[in-house]
Amino acid sequence: MPAQQADDAGSGPPVRRLVVLAGPTAVGKGTVAAYVREHHPGVWLSVSATTREPRPGEVHGEHYYFVDDAEFDRLAREGQLLEWALVHGRARYGTPRRPVEQVLAQGRPALLEIDLQGARKIREAMPDALFVFLAPPSWDDLVVRLVGRGTESPEERQVRLGTARTELAAAEEFDVTIVNDDVSRAAEELVSLMVDPTPAKDS
Ligand code: 5GP
Repeated sequence: MPAQQADDAGSGPPVRRLVVLAGPTAVGKGTVAAYVREHHPGVWLSVSATTREPRPGEVHGEHYYFVDDAEFDRLAREGQLLEWALVHGRARYGTPRRPVEQVLAQGRPALLEIDLQGARKIREAMPDALFVFLAPPSWDDLVVRLVGRGTESPEERQVRLGTARTELAAAEEFDVTIVNDDVSRAAEELVSLMVDPTPAKDS
């Protein structure tokens, strides 16, 4: 376990300001993150840069910063990304560095929803973060989610299933595992790890 942060001192369970949420493909990380965005505006969610095409309904600057290869190259080269990874062998995704550092400097809880490779890189760069693995209730449940979403081709689905198998095996590297049996329950469990349930009263 990484060392507890200094501002966690006091009564009650330790609270970690930076939480990295990872887990297998289609486990519902994005849905859990969306729930947190809607119900816990005090929690800041990182917006990643990606080279993949927007899906219908996705908004530049809200869900992702959709950039081309040249722009992604520039961000990576200039050290503007805290981490980045090629996901599913297709598109690159990266966490813009400055917003995360600014939010943490303000003492605001921050959530990164990223893939396993990215989580490992953040662990090296920021070992005091809390690493949370979002797990499916079962493998079968995960397969149903992958097939059910229907946004990928059969070939893409096979690639994603392969990635998911490897990713499931990585659960033991994480500090905490949350089972996504219910989105709101899982999201509330996540938030309880990063927001003090009994904030100090104004004096
Ligand atoms: P999707 O294309 O379905 O939105 O996301 C594909 C995968 O990329 C998900 O596992 C998601 O967690 C991951 N991802 C999103 N943003 C980042 C990021 O900034 N860095 C890394 N390493 N992975 C990311």
